[in-house]
Parts: sequence; structure tokens; C-alpha cells
Amino acid sequence: MALVIQKFGGTSVGTVEKIKNVAKRVVCEKEKGNHVVVVLSAMTGETNKLVSLANEVSETPNEREFDVLVSTGEQVTIALLSMALQEIGCAARSYTASQVKIITDSAHTKARIKEIGSENIKKDLEEGKVVVVAGFQGVDEHGNVTTLGRGGSDTSAVAIAAALKADVCEIFTDVEGVYTTDPNICEKARKLKKISYDEMLEMASLGAKVLQTRSVEFAKKYHVPVHVRSTFSDNEGTLVTKEDREMERVAVSGIAYNKDEAKITIIQVPDKPGVAAKLFGLISESNINVDMIIQNISEDGYTDMTFTVPKGDYKRALELVEKTGVELAAKGVTGDPNISKVSVIGVGMRSHAGIASTVFKTLSQEGINIMMISTSEIKVSCVIESKYTELAVRTLHDAFNLGEGEITEEKS
Ligand code: ASP
Ligand code: MG
Repeated sequence: MALVIQKFGGTSVGTVEKIKNVAKRVVCEKEKGNHVVVVLSAMTGETNKLVSLANEVSETPNEREFDVLVSTGEQVTIALLSMALQEIGCAARSYTASQVKIITDSAHTKARIKEIGSENIKKDLEEGKVVVVAGFQGVDEHGNVTTLGRGGSDTSAVAIAAALKADVCEIFTDVEGVYTTDPNICEKARKLKKISYDEMLEMASLGAKVLQTRSVEFAKKYHVPVHVRSTFSDNEGTLVTKEDREMERVAVSGIAYNKDEAKITIIQVPDKPGVAAKLFGLISESNINVDMIIQNISEDGYTDMTFTVPKGDYKRALELVEKTGVELAAKGVTGDPNISKVSVIGVGMRSHAGIASTVFKTLSQEGINIMMISTSEIKVSCVIESKYTELAVRTLHDAFNLGEGEITEEKS
């Protein structure tokens, strides 16, 4: 008898009809002889509505109250699904996070899970019940309601899977799985059968918004196999799992892009110790996340530095850098919000040479100028003008033969 965690996203529980369908799916799993724990999101759009309500009352809502409010969407769906299950003869019980004891730290709106009490759940499972848990929410050690950040019910599901040592954590969503790239901009995008945790982390943080990044970190840490699949079909989706030999044989697994960044350049800062420390110290104190950083020292004793920040923080960051630039005696500061980052990802890169040069050649053949480059063991990222994003993604997808039936595996 296996233990299966099934998480259904907002679009899967968006209407009463859909909730009834989810109930049928859960019963099918149960009828295979498995124990099932269901983790739910709020109905589509519900959390956004709650956020807007808070913003109507206050520009800076108190975070504790904000969490009390936005966590309510999930309480609606768990109750409705439990009723729907009971209605078709399946014993079920709903649990809020405080009833399960999903203990988090006290960082409201972005809390981290510290511990999960599994007693209640285990008892119900042994009695043959389906357990339905509210995703996205937690409770701190003082009993305050917390939330895990937008998209956080993925993390709830994976954490519960880890705590209960489940056999698999299935993430049911409105897409068929993880694709080689965004199918909305590249019609040749192909569904991947398997992807490693590290590749998925790159894909998730770079804009393939299928799974909350933190859920993948959790899955990696506790070796939880995650199966991303569609609620609306029985097709196999994509398994996010440990790296294996087969994955390494393919140099590139996917192309991701991110249009949500902007770049800032500080020009000709005197080249001496402490410049980067001061600049990035101030930026981080303002809670702005810096992604890529490129620094170059020229022969005349000056440094140019270019880095990227989330587009939402661009104005704030630019003002800060302009001010600091004066203090650091820089020649000037420029910025550009119309950029995007395109990344080629694959664990196979560790053992295949020439990936970066293929990326550069492909972009240059399309006349696309590369403004910044950064690489890691399993990725090559280029910052380009935003208007070329789609073209870059499509031509790179072709260049690495990622389309249907095109996969070129090396004989091992
Ligand atoms: N309902 C929450 C949100 O919309 C959590 C989730 O769906 O994962 O962000
Ligand atoms: Mg989601």
C-alpha cells in the first residue's frame, strides 16, 4: 500500500463542478488501495481577491492580519472537497494548518516550515479516511496564522510528503507537465518525462512557473519524487527527481526565460576594495534581490559594474545606486528595464563541451546582441533586449534539437 500526496492547484478547484471531479480522482487513487492525503489551493482568483481587499483597507496592511485574511481561501476548498468526497461515499476529513500543526517561523507572508505534526493525519489514514489539508498556510509557535508566499501550497504538499515519507507527491495543475520551454511561445516545446531537482530549480526560478521554487528545494533536500501532471487528463506528466545517467546524456534539457528583470550599470567607479561591498550592502539592506552581477576592471584604474534586479524594484534600486554612485565618485549610472534573460539549462552540460559557444553563435546568427552573460555548471544565461525574447527562445530550442522526436542522445 502506497502513500500518495495529491496537490490540486487553484484552477483544478476553481468551481464546485471541478471540486466534484477532483473528488472522483481522489477516489480512484484510493480504490487502487493507496492512502491519500490531498493538499489544496484556494479557488482560482480567490487569493488575489483577498489581497485586493486588504489593499483597499490599507496601503501597508499589517502582515499578521494579512495572513489571517489571505489564508482563508484554502479553508473554503478543503471543506468543499471533504463534503464532495463524503457525498460519493468516501470518508474524508479536512484540516487547517493549525489543526495539522504545520509549524512555521514567524516571517508573515513568506514563512518557512519548521515542523509538521503527523499524528492526526496518520490516525485518519489508518482509519481509511482521506485527509484534506489546506495548503499555503502555517502556524507559528505562538499560534499566529502564517502563509508561505504566493504559490506556497506546492511547498505545503512537498513538506507533508517529506514528513509522512510519502511514495510520491503529485502536483495536479492546468498544464500537462514541465516542458522544454514555454509552449505559449514555442510550438515545438515538448513535455519532459523526467527532470532533475537542480534543473527544475533553474527552470522554476527562471520563469517556468509550474512549481514554487521553495517546493523544489524541499523536494531535493528530502528526496521527495514530485510528479507534475494535469488535472484534466490521465496522461503521465513530468517526474522531478534525482539526477540519473540518462539525464546526463542529453546536454540541454530546457530553455527558460525571465522578462521580470531590469539592469543597472555603474560606470567608472575607482577600482579599490570595498566598492562592491558598499553598493550591494546598501541594496540588500533595502531588501532588493540582485541576480546577475558583472564587473570588469579597465586598465585605467576604474571598474564598470552591471547587475540585474527584479523589475518591480528597478526604480528604487536605480535611485539608490545614483545616490551611492555620487558617494563612490562614479562617472555615471545608467539603467535599462527592457531586458530579458534567456537561459539554457541541463545537467548534461557538466560532461558536454561547447554549449556556451553554441548559444552565442545561435543568438548572433539572429542578430541578437548579448548584453550580459553568466554561467553555472548546469546553465548558460544571456541578457538580451526584451523584444527578442521569443525569437531567442525559439532559435535556441531548435539549435539544441529540443523539439518533438528531435532528442539526440549520445550512445554511451
Ligand atoms: N492560494 C495561494 C496563492 O494563490 C497559494 C497557492 O495557490 O499555491 O498564491
Ligand atoms: Mg501554483
